[in-house]
Amino acid sequence: VPEQPAILTDIEGTTSSIAFVKEVLFPYARSRIGAYVREHGHDPEVAGAVAALTALLRDEGGLRTTAPHALDLALDRLIDEDRKLTPLKLLQGRIWAAGYADGSLVGHVYPDAVRQLRAWHAQGVALYVYSSGSVPAQKLLFAHTAYGDLTPLFSDYFDTRVGPKHDAASYRAIAAALARPAGELLFLSDSAPELDAAASAGLRVCQLVRPEEPSVEHDPRSTHPGARSFDDVLP
Ligand SMILES: [Mg+2]
Repeated sequence: VPEQPAILTDIEGTTSSIAFVKEVLFPYARSRIGAYVREHGHDPEVAGAVAALTALLRDEGGLRTTAPHALDLALDRLIDEDRKLTPLKLLQGRIWAAGYADGSLVGHVYPDAVRQLRAWHAQGVALYVYSSGSVPAQKLLFAHTAYGDLTPLFSDYFDTRVGPKHDAASYRAIAAALARPAGELLFLSDSAPELDAAASAGLRVCQLVRPEEPSVEHDPRSTHPGARSFDDVLP
């Protein structure tokens, strides 16, 4: 069987703008979480998540009264601190799902990324996602874009449950989960430490250095190839 190249892509700064995640998605959940837990407190999943977060906040000394406003502020702070807490992610995910469903949120994907992801998919290149956002959040973003539902393009999704993005073992675990030799996978990311980790696991890598993302720079000492858009990426 001939080797079939496959692509593993990051989201923030790679397929999509960093600002969409940092300046749209997170503030959207932050501004709504207090009202959301009050309006959906009867939902057992929401009630369970609130109970778990309340217990955690009390343990940490971050919640000293039972006033609803105190809980709102404490939940806002957890979002600001980007705490990787399963019940917090569940609530954020529910709020984002509602926002995407009513059209308030539109998942940002760069047009060159849409064009090339479609072309690669049509050529039979398998496409996978690896992002620090949860898998349900990744699917929501790609399901609700200005270009329609892009989720049919992707064969699988990975988040930090497989391991941290700066850890080579995470990339070995992804290759193993996909039953592919690491060298068949091309990893696309804007982040040099992520590319270093993937390369040391044996993946091929390419750094997205988008003019639209001035915070991302290509280290001239880096041996990783760089691309200004997905149009420059060779699978
Ligand atoms: Mg990134």
